Amino acid sequence: MPHFPSLTRAAGLDALSAFLAGPGADYAAARNTDRGRAAPTTSALSPYLRRRLLTEEEVARAAIRALGERGAEKFVTEVFWRTYFKGHLETHPEAWARYRAGRHAAHERLAAEPGLRRTYERAVTGGTGIDGFDAWAVQLVEENWLHNHARMWFASIWIFTLGLPWELGAEFFLRHLLDGDPASNTLSWRWVAGLHTRGKPYLARRDNIREFTDGRHDPAGLNEGAGSLEEETPPREVPLASADPAPEGPVALLLHLDDLHPDSLPLGGARVTRVGGLVASVEEAAEPVRAADEAAMADALTRAGAHFGCPAGPVREGWAGDLPVVTAWAPVGPSADALPAGCRRVRRDWDARAWPLSNRGYSRLRGAIPKVMAG
Ligand SMILES: Cc1cc2nc3c(=O)[nH]c(=O)nc-3n(C[C@H](O)[C@H](O)[C@H](O)COP(=O)(O)OP(=O)(O)OC[C@H]3O[C@@H](n4cnc5c(N)ncnc54)[C@H](O)[C@@H]3O)c2cc1C
Repeated sequence: MPHFPSLTRAAGLDALSAFLAGPGADYAAARNTDRGRAAPTTSALSPYLRRRLLTEEEVARAAIRALGERGAEKFVTEVFWRTYFKGHLETHPEAWARYRAGRHAAHERLAAEPGLRRTYERAVTGGTGIDGFDAWAVQLVEENWLHNHARMWFASIWIFTLGLPWELGAEFFLRHLLDGDPASNTLSWRWVAGLHTRGKPYLARRDNIREFTDGRHDPAGLNEGAGSLEEETPPREVPLASADPAPEGPVALLLHLDDLHPDSLPLGGARVTRVGGLVASVEEAAEPVRAADEAAMADALTRAGAHFGCPAGPVREGWAGDLPVVTAWAPVGPSADALPAGCRRVRRDWDARAWPLSNRGYSRLRGAIPKVMAG
């Protein structure tokens, strides 16, 4: 388990440097191996990236500087998955709405079907008897973290071996993951289920788990031949909504949990004279995740106050006075839902370049990575 001292930008920058000076060099070869509590094979930067305490752009550029274009290629490609999922959910917000409706329906099934309820309770408490799966359930609750490959195996066993509704698994992840994110989580669960890349589920295999856990886990009885989940129609695509230009002159800047690096926002001629912080955690979030959200916001407010040389604190009634309120674009999720009406939402160039290429499969954006980076 990576150690997250606290979710601040300084801690994120330290973690980035440590990764690039250490495991980063071996990332492409080692990243699929989950060594459990021993030496990490990946960066564990996602709790920082999810809140943009670190931006995708600066992490990708730092990796290229440290490891060279070739040496950083795989890592940068992975960082772009986050950007892709965000852009994809922006153009398919119905995927989030369907998750929420499906979660509600699944809870009604849990209340009505005692057998399903028992399976669910065993799954979330690590009592199924499936080697690996049970350890990951406990690790998720106790450490708020899972390696990517463990997330894939866990989700696949949840759906195809245990026959549980995927929305309950996605909710379990959002409750406990320190990096819990509407876009990456919802679309990754849909991908495992064979709903994102339609008809192509991800099936966890016993020999693959044994190999990539260095033999720690060897689960018997997995359903390795399941067919994909199905839905009548895929979520409808909508055009990417336009962002707003930042106004000239004095403004109040509103920070939210999807973008906590205000120094690098494209604010044009706006002059920030006060800053407010709006914490809207996902409603599923457990206490450690809420505490991490609060810590990240407190750090961002301190930095923003120093950077803009103005008062900065939690959003309260009348905090902005008569000033126009400017904020970073909030992608689909609780921050976007909580933004007050009338905010001007500015979009980073990175998102403006990448999101229009994220409306279909990942390969289109992956092919355009050099172009997005060059811009
Ligand atoms: C079922 C399932 C649910 C997931 N839920 C979440 C979630 O709620 N929040 C979340 O941030 N990630 C989620 N992921 C994606 C991925 O597992 C994590 O981003 C990754 O494990 C974070 O670890 P890391 O920082 O060490 O990644 P690294 O391998 O070091 O990658 C660097 C960065 O690239 C991005 N990245 C890497 N892989 C992915 C990926 N597959 N999808 C999206 N971004 C990626 C992350 O920002 C990550 O920090 C999920 C994956 C699966 C299979």
